[in-house]
Amino acid sequence: MARYKHYDYNQTKMILLRFADQIQPGTFEYTLNHVVDTDLDLSVFESRYRNDVNGAPAYDPAILLKVVLFAYSRGITSSRKIAQACRENVIFMALSADSQPHHSTIAEFISRMDEVIAPLFTHVLMVCDGLNLIGREMFAIDGCKLPSNAAKEWSGTRAELNRKQAKIDRAVSRMLTAHQHDDRQDQPPEILAREQAQIEKLEKVSAKIKKHLATAPERLGQRGTPVKGNITDPDSANMKLIYRLDIDGYIADNQFRKRDPRFAESVTFNTAKAQRRKERGGQVAQRFIPADFDYDPLTETCRCPAGQPMWKRFKGLIDEQETISFQGYRQHCRDCSLKHQCLRRPNQQDGRQVSFALGERKPLSSFIEKMKQKIDSPMGRHIYSQRLGTVEPVFGNLESNKGLSRFTLRGKSKVNAQWLMYCMVHNLEKIATQGQQRH
Ligand code: SF4
Repeated sequence: MARYKHYDYNQTKMILLRFADQIQPGTFEYTLNHVVDTDLDLSVFESRYRNDVNGAPAYDPAILLKVVLFAYSRGITSSRKIAQACRENVIFMALSADSQPHHSTIAEFISRMDEVIAPLFTHVLMVCDGLNLIGREMFAIDGCKLPSNAAKEWSGTRAELNRKQAKIDRAVSRMLTAHQHDDRQDQPPEILAREQAQIEKLEKVSAKIKKHLATAPERLGQRGTPVKGNITDPDSANMKLIYRLDIDGYIADNQFRKRDPRFAESVTFNTAKAQRRKERGGQVAQRFIPADFDYDPLTETCRCPAGQPMWKRFKGLIDEQETISFQGYRQHCRDCSLKHQCLRRPNQQDGRQVSFALGERKPLSSFIEKMKQKIDSPMGRHIYSQRLGTVEPVFGNLESNKGLSRFTLRGKSKVNAQWLMYCMVHNLEKIATQGQQRH
């Protein structure tokens, strides 16, 4: 019979731990601890506290700032999880000097960071500058899309929200009638309770929409027409690129690489895949092009190469060109024997889309043409290619490494504060990894 080493869960052992020793030089936490303690002016938090004579002592903002930024660097955004880490993770314990802040304290601290984030962010930048981490050659702005803490189904113009609210009210009244009928029929109490809960839930939704409609003003787009607003976070919106400031913008179109001779030799992922398949003697199927589809401009209907009808998806302007587009029905495309020639991916969920320009192709507006010329100029190409080494790594680091997949706060200023805290983490990492080499 096998023998195993002896162990005893009832034994005791004393493990000595000095928290300061857990914050090792050369690590992110060491840099964070050092910068917060020596470089940041935390007097910006002073006005929050009125306990100099009376009241319990508060958690030191330095402690809270350290644990929050460290948590962000580890992809943790939930206040409960940060509080849990402060009880269970030795680095969090060390950074918080084992003071174990409550999750509600952490949540409140984060939600009020918009009041103080600007000077703190600047101080970290100044530390970067002191370590020659800022080149001072170029100042570039770029954007990336990140989901807000607001669901899309809570978005709509006032007219759409009015319709939604009326629909919910009608559903509530129908359910109430059915509920009263069930009550008379002596339905089991659990069914009645479930119906009642559903009614209350819908009434709450209706009240939420009503409150929004009564308090929030109509949101207008650039042309003064109503645009969708969101009930949960009125500041959130579908992203639009607006250059209101005097910014030297570079906005590439999706063909700019094709026009750039530097990419003449390069092959896209799909082309390379097709080439490899050809080399192996396989068939490279050409995807059906719009000419392969049977579009009738009079009836505005379309049949695909398999002879199946398609539904009209869109008719309107795309890049200033009147366009009509159709899409195949999922159930047709899923079982279609031609899907390898038609769909981008044979297992894709949605049906094939195809678009047709209506009338003569219009020349692109002067703005688009001008931007193309600017992007295609030697200076434009040089500046645009710098994105790869300047701002793209920041987005990549924050989204992929730090797990910033969506904002957890609501409202423009709070979302901005959360974004800046993530950027502080990025800059502190730079100080931790590059700063020591340059110092
Ligand atoms: S994949 Fe869909 S759209 Fe394409 S030919 Fe088949 S049914 Fe028609």
